[in-house]
Amino acid sequence: MHGLMMDTPLLISSIARHAEKFHGDREIVSVTMDDPRHRYTIRDAVRRSRQLANALARMGLETGDRVATIAWNDYRHLEIYYGVSGSGYVCHTINPRLFPEQLVFIINHAEDRWICTDLVFVPLLEKLLPQIPNVEGFIVMTDEAHMPDTSLPNALCYESLLDAESAEFEWPLLDERTASALCYTSGTTGDPKGVLYDHRSTVLHAFASVAPDVMNLSSRDVVLPVVPLFHVNAWGIPYSALMVGAKLVFPGPKMGDGEALYALLEEERVTVALGVPTVWLALLQYCEQAGKTLESLDRTVIGGAAVPRAMIEQFEKVQDVRTIQGWGMTEMSPLGTANTPKAGQEGLGDEERLDLATKAGRGIFGCELRIVDDHGTELPWDGVAYGALQVRGPWICSDYFKLAGAGGSHKEDGWFDTGDVATIDAQGYMAITDRTKDVIKSGGEWISSIELENAAIGHPAVAEAAVIGVAHPKWTERPLLVVVAAKGQEIDKQALLAFFKGKVADWWIPNDVAVVDELPHTATGKIKKIELRRQFADYALPE
Ligand code: AMP
Repeated sequence: MHGLMMDTPLLISSIARHAEKFHGDREIVSVTMDDPRHRYTIRDAVRRSRQLANALARMGLETGDRVATIAWNDYRHLEIYYGVSGSGYVCHTINPRLFPEQLVFIINHAEDRWICTDLVFVPLLEKLLPQIPNVEGFIVMTDEAHMPDTSLPNALCYESLLDAESAEFEWPLLDERTASALCYTSGTTGDPKGVLYDHRSTVLHAFASVAPDVMNLSSRDVVLPVVPLFHVNAWGIPYSALMVGAKLVFPGPKMGDGEALYALLEEERVTVALGVPTVWLALLQYCEQAGKTLESLDRTVIGGAAVPRAMIEQFEKVQDVRTIQGWGMTEMSPLGTANTPKAGQEGLGDEERLDLATKAGRGIFGCELRIVDDHGTELPWDGVAYGALQVRGPWICSDYFKLAGAGGSHKEDGWFDTGDVATIDAQGYMAITDRTKDVIKSGGEWISSIELENAAIGHPAVAEAAVIGVAHPKWTERPLLVVVAAKGQEIDKQALLAFFKGKVADWWIPNDVAVVDELPHTATGKIKKIELRRQFADYALPE
């Protein structure tokens, strides 16, 4: 027997409608390419996304068609999120930092009909043009005064496009499983793979992420996503922030700039900021050098890579800012775990609390977790046993776009293999020890590169650290620590290696230290281990 509840589809447009009614006056502040501090309200954003929806319909787009964006975080990008998905088209967010050949692959694979682009990426698209012949036209996200002289065909001005349209638009009543957005994984090997979100998964993910034990988002918050709108939908913030009516602050092209971020955080009274560890390094360094403290910031949500213990400590002890470590991936919308305390943990000492905070967090309702061994047998949750981390839930992809089961990560019993190796403790807190392909295998035993990196970054002379396995005649592989020195610091290799004593098992301690000027990063700001392994492929470890 069915219950007697309304069969209301979970739609992205319903978030826009709700936000406009209940939080219409809430501000959205953006740094854009043509305005250092653009301000308007949620009401303006939703009205303009309806104007965009009218324009797109007039251009002959049909349900399911892909409209791409290649842009930084700002209000126009947000309007496109709602205008495109709300109309039943698919908003394909593209990472501009990808290699040109990856961009060409993604645009063609997605069969993007139109591309909305920031002014700065016009030259990049002009170069790609001969290889993306199926794109019908480009919408340049600026006003008429800033329109460039471009060779892009059908280059329309975003503001003029909107100006010509009415703000009256009835969002279509879509099936909630209708595709809404598309994001390609920045895979380090092979072609990028497309993850196709739908309205239902997006709304459920937003409900889950605002919960107190996840991001604890409310209408009182001021949220600054440093995480780009092209990186898993900025972890869902465009949806969750509007769902609760939080004020949004978009950093535009300023996301890597510690000083500019600091100014935005302070002047806009930001309470929650989200990003990968690399961006917080820049901010914390700026604060330290300039002697500044973060006055309004209550918490940072950090994920996308392991969060170093030293970073958590600096946020907590120096800046009085709580960190919520999260773990997830493009395939998971992205949230799988969040690290918030449970009842009974109030009495933990400083060290124990920090030990716990360095873990990736506990599973949130909606994302099941398990760890399995090489035979697929489930491993115990004892915080010691480690194995392949698998997940299952309504906002986790069931396949990759146009790969029809050939992605290799979906198991027959419905679980998705994340490619991460992890432990889970008795309380349900999961800790990532490595990517499967980054694991260092020494004498048949695994060494966690992440734990070693975490320990290294705690040394005051180290700005950034990566650990990779290099060939060893006896042990097959041994860890090599590659570091970037902190400003004005010299690296004493022996002292640095001695620093690991007591922090990790003796046999885990790296065999050598290599000092480099900078580490290679992926397009989403993570350390590119594959490139490092290539650089150090012939490295001879000392006897
Ligand atoms: P992406 O799809 O680009 O967001 O990358 C997802 C991957 O980033 C995961 O599979 C993990 O390997 C890594 N990752 C994300 N969050 C964390 C975290 N808190 N700790 C360690 N690794 C993480």
